[in-house]
Amino acid sequence: MKLINKDVIVVGAGAAGLFCAAEAAKRGRSVTVLDHAKRIGGKILMSGGGRCNFTNMYASAENFLSDNPHFCKSALSRYTQWDFVGLVSEYGIAYHEKTLGQLFCDNSAKDILNMLLKECDKAGATITTQCEITAITKRDDGFELETSKGSYQCESLVIATGGLSMPKLGASPFGYKVAEQFGLSVKPTRAGLVPFTLHEQDKSVLADLSGISLDARASCNDTNFNENILFTHRGLSGPAVLQISSFWHPGQAVEFDLFPHGDLHQELTSAQVQSPDSQLATVLAKHYPKRYVQTALPYLGLENKPLKQYQGKQLQQVADAFHQWQLKPNGTEGYRTAEVTLGGVDTNQLSSKTMMAKDVEGLYFIGEVVDVTGWLGGYNFQWAWSSGWVAGQEA
Ligand SMILES: Cc1cc2nc3c(=O)[nH]c(=O)nc-3n(C[C@H](O)[C@H](O)[C@H](O)COP(=O)(O)OP(=O)(O)OC[C@H]3O[C@@H](n4cnc5c(N)ncnc54)[C@H](O)[C@@H]3O)c2cc1C
Repeated sequence: MKLINKDVIVVGAGAAGLFCAAEAAKRGRSVTVLDHAKRIGGKILMSGGGRCNFTNMYASAENFLSDNPHFCKSALSRYTQWDFVGLVSEYGIAYHEKTLGQLFCDNSAKDILNMLLKECDKAGATITTQCEITAITKRDDGFELETSKGSYQCESLVIATGGLSMPKLGASPFGYKVAEQFGLSVKPTRAGLVPFTLHEQDKSVLADLSGISLDARASCNDTNFNENILFTHRGLSGPAVLQISSFWHPGQAVEFDLFPHGDLHQELTSAQVQSPDSQLATVLAKHYPKRYVQTALPYLGLENKPLKQYQGKQLQQVADAFHQWQLKPNGTEGYRTAEVTLGGVDTNQLSSKTMMAKDVEGLYFIGEVVDVTGWLGGYNFQWAWSSGWVAGQEA
């Protein structure tokens, strides 16, 4: 088979890989992106419910999890959310802030994928799909790749194969294996931004609440998020749950404040004065869906009776049950539905400025394959753009 020579080969035509390829090609480098999937950009198209939450106005290092929380600072400051917003605007893509600084396309996630493909095309970076890479060898002046589409040689090799979440969309452990082949360590991986599954005793009761969403503050391991939670027929989801799942470890409890913006005890005591004959459930139903209250009271071990029959201490217990609902998840739905993979290529072995492996000249790791994981809200794409951009200036 023929040998194809390129300056740069990027493995993985996702967000980080496409962006990096375009940047490297703009510098006059000959670039090819190889991907084993038939269709590329699957995650971009699915993201943000089809509207791609492509960045966050408030993105900063605090929004990322990593064994080395400082690592992402350099790339995030060299290519910021505003740089990406500038590019989106150049392409005339309409967008809006949905909530908490999260920027979404007005129209469709396709706009972002098309923009990346156009950027690659304009700069001359080519893309080869359905390409299986079977071996990588280091040579003095670069790398040699054996693939199902022939042999390639390149000076710089960029690994942008993402994490393990959503195997249906082409996810594979390829990037971690390449890291290990070249002596880089990989931090243990686990599913992040993922719904919780429940123990049978919780599930048998809470599954009936499927579809109900509540405002809540979810807390675990000194971190908390104030957003919605959503009961599902499998367990618990919603933005606050997805966020806290990245901080949760098996066996731990998560605390939910289901009255996060007020003092439920105060509400109940004033209701007791104003309408002592009202049932507890009636008063709670002013703040929660009725179906939730009916299920929650017996589930939390609370009696429903007229407010006048509660002693002050008992009302405090009721309030505490809602302010401090402790739930021990059984687990998570895992990589099948996780939005991201926590852990990955150890940042201590990469240059934070260029993303190149410190001990392997010409080998780069970008995007989700690296041990940098964003919160929910456009941060993960921003990491893909920032890490892809910095590597694209060097590779
Ligand atoms: C359903 C869903 C919704 C999401 N929504 C958002 C959102 O709105 N905002 C946000 O910021 N983040 C979101 N994310 C997370 C975001 O999509 C990822 O963090 C981001 O796509 C990572 O980019 P990446 O380029 O590193 O990897 P990916 O986008 O995963 O791309 C990796 C590429 O590598 C290819 N590949 C894998 N293995 C091999 C191999 N062995 N050989 C060749 N090619 C290979 C894959 O086919 C894929 O094309 C979402 C994720 C999911 C799953």
